[in-house]
This record gives sequence, C-alpha cells and structure tokens, in this order.
Amino acid sequence: MKKIFTFVMAMMVMAFSMGAKDMDSLLPVRGFAIEAPSVRDVDLFVRFIEEDLAQARVNLLILRVDWNYAYQSHPELQDEHPLTQADVDKLVAACQKNGIRLVPQINLLGHQSWAKETYALLKNYPEFDETPSIRTEEHYSKWPNEYGLYCKSYCPLHPDVHRVVFDVVDEICEAFHSDAFHAGMDEVFYIGMDECPRCKGKDRSELFAGEVNAIRSHLADKGRQLMIWGDRLLDGRTTGLGEWEASYNDTWRAVDMISKDVLICDWHYERADLSAVYFAMKGLPVVSCGYRDPEISIQQVMDMMKFRAQAPDEMKDHLCGYVHTIWSSAGRFLRSYYGMGGNRPGAPRPPRQDGSVEAAKAVLTYFRELAD
Ligand SMILES: [Zn+2]
Repeated sequence: MKKIFTFVMAMMVMAFSMGAKDMDSLLPVRGFAIEAPSVRDVDLFVRFIEEDLAQARVNLLILRVDWNYAYQSHPELQDEHPLTQADVDKLVAACQKNGIRLVPQINLLGHQSWAKETYALLKNYPEFDETPSIRTEEHYSKWPNEYGLYCKSYCPLHPDVHRVVFDVVDEICEAFHSDAFHAGMDEVFYIGMDECPRCKGKDRSELFAGEVNAIRSHLADKGRQLMIWGDRLLDGRTTGLGEWEASYNDTWRAVDMISKDVLICDWHYERADLSAVYFAMKGLPVVSCGYRDPEISIQQVMDMMKFRAQAPDEMKDHLCGYVHTIWSSAGRFLRSYYGMGGNRPGAPRPPRQDGSVEAAKAVLTYFRELAD
C-alpha cells in the first residue's frame, strides 16, 4: 500500500509540473464503467456518484444494465427484481446534477451466456443463437474446453435479431436520457461459425464490422453515439496482446471497416499497452481503460495525457481520455470501497481481494488532485 501511495504521489507531482490546472484539456474524458446497481443498492450507488465520482470530476459513467431493467418493450427479457424507471431516475438525477454523461450498456453480439448460464436473449429467442448445437448447461465445464465455449453469441445475420435488440436499446437509452449507448462487443469468440447457415464461410472482420455499423446507424438516426470495447479490433498475434485483449479470430481488420464516430474503449489490464495511439491513427475516438492494478491504471492515465500533449491536433481530438472499469457487482464493489462488512445474512459475498478497489481509489484520487 505504501508503494502504491508513493507511486500515486509521484504521479501527482508530475501532473502538477505539467501545469495541470485545465483538466478538461489534459484529459477530456474521465470515466468510470461498472455494473448497474441492483435495486437495493441504488441509494448507495447515488452516494458513490455524489460523494466520489463527482468530487473526482468524473464526467462519464457507463453502467452495464443488460437485463436488469423492467423493459416494457420486451418484458420477457428482464431479470427478476429489475431496476424500475423510478430507480433509474435517481441515477439520472445524480448524474445530471454533477455534469456526468450517463451511458447504459447492454452486451450485444457476444457475452450472451456465462459459464453454464444462457442469458435472457438466447433463452427467449434460441433461434438467434450462432451455435445452437452447443448448450451452455451441458458443454461448459471450465475454460478452455473442447467446444471453444467462453460465451455464446447471437447471429448478427438473423433476420429478426435487430428487431428485438433495437427495441431494448432504444428503451434503455430513453430510460437513461442518454445520448450514447455502449454495446459491449468484447471477447466475441463465436462469430462466422460453420454451423450457422447464414454466417458460414463469411469474412469474420466483415461480419463484426457489419454488426458494429448496423448498431451505430440505428443509434445515429436518433442522435446517439455508439461505444464498444476495442479488443476485437486488435490483432492478438502480431501485437502479442493475446486472444482476450485482442483477437485471434480474424476480426481485427474490422478496424478499417467501422464508422469513424464509434468510441473505442481500449481495455488493457496486464500492462499499460499503447494501442490507444493505433486507434487514434485510424481516425477513431478512443479512451484507455484500466482495472485492478493501481500502478498500471495510473500509468494509462498518464500515457493518455502524454499522447495528447505530443499529438498533432487532428489526432489529439481522437485521444479522448481514460475510463476506469470494475468487473465485480456494483454492490460488492461499493461495500468494499466503503469498508462495509459483507458477512451479515443475505449480504453480497465479500469483495475480491484483487486490487480493483485500490486501483479505483488511486484513479479517483488522481483525478481529484488533477482538478485542484
Ligand atoms: Zn450467423
């Protein structure tokens, strides 16, 4: 902890020496991405917005909602005890009051299952499944497995899939009063599969880009921006970034096929990789994203500011900022963040000891000092 503190202090001194008074110019986007809270944690989450995100001058909050909302257009897709409009209104009000752009996320294309559980879209519409012969309950044991099953995908070429998906996208954007939508689209391992009669033999980069552009166009018609994770747009072998943070499945050429107004959330958790510059040089707006290592996360923030300081104006505009990510549930994260006990009956599991809380605190502290 002392090492982290010393490191953060050193970074702050560097920031001040850069003349860090104008943080909007140094780092225009200062974001936080986390799962949307469950109903019982909404008030605690509002406290986090008001006391912590606002104080740190965070100006973008991406919430993974998925099926945790009482959808009117497709009630069959909602989780048990989903957020209601009244719950969402509290989040919207807290963000609006503090100048935070609130953006909902639903995982599209990939991440339609997790381990042995198939999620609502493919459970209700099994005809959209890219790999219907692979059954999560039966075929998932651990990763890796002989089926290459990490998460299921929907088929982007199914003629009815967008009718359903775009209904819920529109509804969640309206519920959140949002001018943007995050579609996830990370770690898509099942795409262009041989068992899909529509996708078999098709170019996977074209399939991926086609889905990005279809979602983007739908949003653009209503004046909204699309955000996605960047991993499928990086060549995992050439870069050495591997098959998670980058792609082994021939989707990376899509980087030259997607619309230039899609915001790329370029996540790297093992090192402060420099791929944000690659996206910016392709003309795509990009934010760097970190997670559970305080030193790597702060390095990513610093790198982004350094890139901006050194870049020509044309590219500087594409190097937008930094978004910190959290991958445990919001309740679990917040209880750990605030040092609340997690052992009472019915309480969420205790937080992971994975550095994510320390990293979040380091980044928010860094933002706060930058603003002073
Ligand atoms: Zn297909």
